[in-house]
Amino acid sequence: MLLSKTLCTLLAASAVLLGGCSNAAGGSASLPAPPVASAAPSASPAVAAPSGFDKTRSFADLQTQVNFGPRYSGSEGYPKMRDWLAKTLTEAAGVPAKKQDFTAKPGDKTLAMSNVYAHINPDAKTQVLLCAHYDTRPTADEEIDPAKQKQAIPGANDGASGVAVLLEMARLLKAKPPTCGVQIVFFDGEDYGPGEAEMYLGAKAWAKSLPLPKPTYAILIDMIGDKSLQIYREQSSESFAPEINDKVWNAASSLNMSSFQNTVKYAISDDHIPLQAVGIKAIDLIDFDYGPWHTLDDTVAQCSPDSLRSVGDVLAKVIYDEK
Ligand SMILES: [Zn+2]
Repeated sequence: MLLSKTLCTLLAASAVLLGGCSNAAGGSASLPAPPVASAAPSASPAVAAPSGFDKTRSFADLQTQVNFGPRYSGSEGYPKMRDWLAKTLTEAAGVPAKKQDFTAKPGDKTLAMSNVYAHINPDAKTQVLLCAHYDTRPTADEEIDPAKQKQAIPGANDGASGVAVLLEMARLLKAKPPTCGVQIVFFDGEDYGPGEAEMYLGAKAWAKSLPLPKPTYAILIDMIGDKSLQIYREQSSESFAPEINDKVWNAASSLNMSSFQNTVKYAISDDHIPLQAVGIKAIDLIDFDYGPWHTLDDTVAQCSPDSLRSVGDVLAKVIYDEK
């Protein structure tokens, strides 16, 4: 994902006040947060996280992915990752995982890519799409050393973390079926790059043909495994689907999740944008204050089982509260 160019442009115009546009690698400037509706306080006393989310098992899934090596189409680790993902999702969800195969043409290349997905409770009236990307960035653009820039990132947080949370979510939903339907979708080609024309490739392919019925709303998770987790309301999500942001922050509030900050920070281009473009109420949960972003230091050591669990618990509350 990338910081929105629009926001960067706006910030550059205010550089005297703000010190210019920031990104995770360069540290975070304090961005002006537009006013947002604050989450309603929970009517009942805070309850212990009820979901039973197994953070150890989820973290093991993160480690397994990183062990495959870089995981972009064309890499050695890619087919291992894709096949492991389909097998593990099938076991976790208790329904057969499917693949949406598509051909991507980033730059002068032609690449075979696949989204991997499963549909739980398909006949339910309310359908929630939970998604994350499983590919990793082929180039460590944010490294300073030009030799390092050409190497592929490990993608422990940027790639593996979202997958790890959603696989554990699938196990929860199998053990305790929700009232609503849940579409779990793992997108390919989010981070191919280098430019935005060659990114979000799986989400674009999904939005173009919608292999599953259009969901009631969608929640994307990305870079949510870092040790010092801070998730803010993302600007595009807040503009397009504020009521879905409210659902998530109300759930986080009721669970006393301090990692969810109830203000807007950053506008991020990510897989939620192609979904919004076809009218899906999609939000992005992302921690963009991540120093190792798009570097070789995006490793397992930067991530935490507790961060995975806090996101999993909030998602579980949102899902199980749906009628
Ligand atoms: Zn990335």
